[in-house]
Amino acid sequence: MATNPAEILGLPKPAWAADEVGMLYDMAHRFMSEEIAPRYDEFEKNEMVDRECWLKAGAAGLLCASMPEEYSGSGGTFAHESAIIEAIGHVGVDGFGIGLHNSIVAPYILHYGSEEQKKKWLPKLATGELIGAIAMTEPGAGSDLQGVKTRAEKDGNHYKVNGSKTFITNGQLANFIIVVTKTDPEKGAKGTSLIVVETDEVEGFERGRNLDKIGLKANDTSELFFNDMRVPTSNLLGHEEGQGFVQLMQQLPQERLQIGTGAIAMVERALALTIDYVKERKAFGKAIIDFQNTQFKLAELKTEATIGRVFYNDCVARHINGGLDPVTASMAKYWLSDLQGKVVDECLQLHGGYGYMNEYPIARMFRDARVQRIYGGTNEIMKLLIGRSL
Ligand SMILES: Cc1cc2nc3c(=O)[nH]c(=O)nc-3n(C[C@H](O)[C@H](O)[C@H](O)COP(=O)(O)OP(=O)(O)OC[C@H]3O[C@@H](n4cnc5c(N)ncnc54)[C@H](O)[C@@H]3O)c2cc1C
Repeated sequence: MATNPAEILGLPKPAWAADEVGMLYDMAHRFMSEEIAPRYDEFEKNEMVDRECWLKAGAAGLLCASMPEEYSGSGGTFAHESAIIEAIGHVGVDGFGIGLHNSIVAPYILHYGSEEQKKKWLPKLATGELIGAIAMTEPGAGSDLQGVKTRAEKDGNHYKVNGSKTFITNGQLANFIIVVTKTDPEKGAKGTSLIVVETDEVEGFERGRNLDKIGLKANDTSELFFNDMRVPTSNLLGHEEGQGFVQLMQQLPQERLQIGTGAIAMVERALALTIDYVKERKAFGKAIIDFQNTQFKLAELKTEATIGRVFYNDCVARHINGGLDPVTASMAKYWLSDLQGKVVDECLQLHGGYGYMNEYPIARMFRDARVQRIYGGTNEIMKLLIGRSL
């Protein structure tokens, strides 16, 4: 398989992926191949990637690539984050949760944090000393985030936080968690606030189980509990309470586009591996690729992957120029993750029984791909948002 499976599509590189973004991709690819891939089975067994790998990723410049240099980031854009997430997908270490840390958690601090908060937290997020998570979902509130019940009540210069969260990515490792709370339950969405919890510094914080998932086994996903957890009021994001819902809405396009990044990268890897496989494997005296069905299937998948890549590249170009609207970002999330599910399923079929065996990478891709249609807002919710624009 080519080092960069995107090459099988034969498309020209978009302008945003040239020069130093291309170099970052190569460096990230090397890092994932040398540092993460050889130990990936162990990480899947442990259901988390070692903290040491986060520190190594930080030292290699793979954390906070799009944060400004004055806060110890690399001063890049979403194109740089895309290069890193693509390298993760192309190497096949999809459970290494640095995409969420880099392009979801850190941007909340950059965009809504005070100067003091940025100086305090971003450099530690860049080294991996702090591992980030964002806790929105609760047992009773997933798609409908307005139903969040976690309550933060002011008590002097602290908030007293009570409630629980579930399905939180990086939930076992994270020591820096942005928690969606209600500071004024009467006001609904307008009473929602984002509060940063530095887990090593608070009492009343408890982690629940590392949840047993069907895929993305190397990524820890957890329940979190807050029992009279005391958090300094200075950990509120934004100048005043009640900004949380607007902040969440503003960050969603990047979060959704990032799910598209993982999707297109896996699509390309699945195709590249499958093309190699069907050239090697023989049945009825010829290679599987010589059957017209195989050629037609792969022709369809390559065509759709090309459509997906062109659309994705256009979304990134728009996003780094500040012009990716929430509706188009929802299209990218839903269409690319649907495509991912379809391509991986068809590619598994072309592997026959071997595709169902865990030792073949396509089997893991099949398990890992499924959640992409669920998290970050389900694909049904994406269609609801697109529908509202009609
Ligand atoms: C592996 C994993 C990692 C995750 N990581 C995080 C994380 O880091 N942080 C975080 O906060 N959350 C995280 N989540 C939670 C995820 O975002 C939610 O699971 C998701 O938003 C769906 O919410 P729900 O599970 O409550 O499903 P529900 O909201 O109960 O939905 C159930 C079904 O009903 C459909 N549905 C709901 N409302 C409508 C509607 N109005 N119209 C049509 N259909 C509808 C949904 O599409 C879905 O098919 C993660 C989840 C998983 C599985």
